[in-house]
Amino acid sequence: MELDKMDENDWKYHGEGNKSLVVSHLQHCRVLRLLKFPSEDSAHTRQTAEQAFRHILNIVDYSKYVMKPLLEEKYVHSGEVVKLPLDFVRQLSLKVQQERPELRCDKVMDTFSGCGLCLPNLTQLPLHHLRDHRPPICVEIKPKCGFLPFSRHITKECKRKVCRFCMHQHYKLANGKWKRLSRYCPLDLFSGSKQRMFVALKNLLEEPQNNLKIFKGGELIFSCKDDAKQQPELNDLIQHLRPYFSHSNGLYNGHQPGKVILNEFIQVICSALLSGGDSNRSGEPRKVHLSESRPHCEASPFPRDLLRNGNHGLPKDSVLAKILQVQMLDNLDIEGIYPLYKRVEQYLEEFPKERNRLQIDGPYNESFMDTVKNCPAEDDGSVEYAVGRFHFVTFQVYQYRVAMTAKDCSVMITFAPDEEDEEQQLNLEKPRFTYSISILDLDPKPYEGIPHQYKLDTKIVNYYLRSTQAPP
Ligand code: ATP
Ligand code: ZN
Ligand code: MG
Ligand code: MG
Repeated sequence: MELDKMDENDWKYHGEGNKSLVVSHLQHCRVLRLLKFPSEDSAHTRQTAEQAFRHILNIVDYSKYVMKPLLEEKYVHSGEVVKLPLDFVRQLSLKVQQERPELRCDKVMDTFSGCGLCLPNLTQLPLHHLRDHRPPICVEIKPKCGFLPFSRHITKECKRKVCRFCMHQHYKLANGKWKRLSRYCPLDLFSGSKQRMFVALKNLLEEPQNNLKIFKGGELIFSCKDDAKQQPELNDLIQHLRPYFSHSNGLYNGHQPGKVILNEFIQVICSALLSGGDSNRSGEPRKVHLSESRPHCEASPFPRDLLRNGNHGLPKDSVLAKILQVQMLDNLDIEGIYPLYKRVEQYLEEFPKERNRLQIDGPYNESFMDTVKNCPAEDDGSVEYAVGRFHFVTFQVYQYRVAMTAKDCSVMITFAPDEEDEEQQLNLEKPRFTYSISILDLDPKPYEGIPHQYKLDTKIVNYYLRSTQAPP
């Protein structure tokens, strides 16, 4: 990519989240991720080009030096900061505007700094042979928090029984964010039990909200509808998937082939999620039981009496085990973290220069990791009690932020049909896929977000209790 010869006609709208907008290159397997700002931000509250550059560099460093070692090298692509011609960015912003979903238009793309993040396009498989007429299928899942909090600081008992996602659904429905409740429960997806994972994925397909997207050849073919009242078209999805599961047609003629295709598709996703990350490994992987807490959420629609049929835990190397392990670094819960945050705040008020030394707002480089690593993981009551104790507090806050990032990331699984298996497929065997798994959206969560998280937690729990407890 020649940065001085950028042409907006080589790029197209790809997607966006709350913080960034992504465009993909028409020929190369590349995307550009550009920051977004609230549209009401005026010129003087906007980041300067210098600040925007710093911001994106922090995103890259955080992914590279903090998240990657915690999650595993092969799953994480940190990308690189690029300086783009302003003219290109402005033209691009005009070009993509009409493609953007209405619910995302409260923010505008950054057209002032010229900074962006260049990443591989993970919806494509770079080594996929173009001979096959079936382009890669990519499933993007935003799994959210996969465990029930176990901290002794928790004050509301329901937090130990019902997961955050399920509680949050009621709050979001009441606030008009979504029109229908999702029946997806992250604890089912993270359970490692094929049955429960199957149910979780089926529920995601029925109500994807912003937790599921499906791409074909890099094009979005399935996601939540812009108009939240409209149901996503499962039938359209089945038509897209049919050529990949062609053996099903003959075998189940007349027996709801659509349903069979969806079931097989879900099974393929399940096996990828339970694998060691790529299709070239085999053997029975070692399982881990990560959760110290109750492994089932009371709000999940999964039938209670089937729970005993094997809760197998996740294979140690699986992408979900890696993510869950990092999520669980949040061992105090926001209720335990908030008082610590206030102490850090108090300390920083007294010693403002410490903010830089403790690298609260980055840079998240190698020396940041040293700072974090040198914090004692436990309150050892040493001679330098005050200092030691304080380091313990900041360490907890760092850990909490890392866990927050892992609760908000997405998993991308990109499949391509195995060509060698073409013949076997004619023998009506199950189709085989080559796949690759990545984790994306590993941005640092701002330290200042902690008070907001604390208030939100209270609101969600209170709302859940009010809406589910029958009036006296
Ligand atoms: P969120 O609101 O979830 O925090 P965000 O604003 O941080 O989102 P991303 O999740 O990084 O933004 O990107 C938005 C969307 O763009 C993703 O959901 C994904 O569909 C797409 N995307 C991002 N990075 C890539 C990539 N490297 N390859 C392909 N698609 C990508
Ligand atoms: Zn749940
Ligand atoms: Mg995202
Ligand atoms: Mg994000």
